[in-house]
Amino acid sequence: MNKTAPAIMATHSQRIAKPYDPTPDERAAREAVRARRVKAPRVKAAKTDAGVELSLDHPDQVHGQSLLMRAMATGEVDFFGELLSQLGRASANGSHAREQRLNFMVAVIKGIEPKDQLETMLAAQMAAVHSLTMDFASRLANADNLVQRDSAERTLNKLARTFAAQVEALKRYRSNGEQKFTVEHISVNEGGKAIVGNVTQGGPLKKRDDPMNKRRVYPYQKSPRCSATSKRTRKPCKAPAVKGWTVCRFHGARGGGPKGKRHGMYRHGLFTKEAVAERRMLRELLRQCRARTSL
Ligand SMILES: [Zn+2]
Repeated sequence: MNKTAPAIMATHSQRIAKPYDPTPDERAAREAVRARRVKAPRVKAAKTDAGVELSLDHPDQVHGQSLLMRAMATGEVDFFGELLSQLGRASANGSHAREQRLNFMVAVIKGIEPKDQLETMLAAQMAAVHSLTMDFASRLANADNLVQRDSAERTLNKLARTFAAQVEALKRYRSNGEQKFTVEHISVNEGGKAIVGNVTQGGPLKKRDDPMNKRRVYPYQKSPRCSATSKRTRKPCKAPAVKGWTVCRFHGARGGGPKGKRHGMYRHGLFTKEAVAERRMLRELLRQCRARTSL
C-alpha cells in the first residue's frame, strides 16, 4: 500500500504537468468507441445486511431505469427487475457480488441490441454462458491434475457448444423463420400472360420439396414384398417376393419337390395338380347340368 500510493500520485501529477498528445489514429479510435457507446447507466451492487442491493449509477433512478429498460427492449418493470437480479445472482460468487461481471453481462445484452423481451432473455443467457465458458477455460488452463482437466474440458466443451447454438437461435429468431430467397421468375401462362419479376417465396424449404434432399427410391424398393409374417418378430417379412411367387426365397419360394414327371412319386399322372383340378371342374359342371334338368 505504501509503495503503490506514491506511485499513483506521481503518475497523476505527471498527467497534470504534461497532457498526453494522442496520435490521429488513437483519436479516431476514441471517437469510434464513443460513437458505439450505448448510453445506459452501470449497475452498482452494494452489500447490505439483507443481501446484495442492486442500484443504477444514475442521479435519478427512474430515468436511469428507463434508459436501461430501453436498452433491454422491455416496458415491463417486473421483467427488468427480475432479469437484473437474475444477472446479479448469475454473476455473483457465492454471496459476494461481482459488479464488473454483472456490468459485463448487461453490456453484452446492450451490445446484442435486443428487439424484444425474448431476445433480451436469450442475450442474458448468452452472457451467462460466455462468462462460465471463460471461467472453465481458465480452470482448464490451470488444472493441476487429470481429473480436474477432464472435468474442465468437458464442461468447457458443452458451454462453448451451447453458446454457438444460442448464436444460431438468435439468428434464426431474427430472420423470423422466413428465409426469403428471390428468384428471377419468368412463366408464360396459356393466355400468353407472362410474369416477369421477383417472385419471393417465404418460409424455409421443406425437406421433401428440396430437390437437393429428394429421397431416391430404387426399383427394388418398389417391388412386391413377401407376404409371410416372421415367426420371431411377428412382423411382416420385408424381403422382396420371388418373381411369380408371393413369398421370398426364405419363406418358401421355389420350394417343394419337382413338378410332374420329374417328381419321384409320379406313376401315371392321375393325381397331378392339373388332373385333379380338371376332374373337380368336370364334377362341378355335371352337378350344374343336373340341377338345370331337374327344374
Ligand atoms: Zn419372406
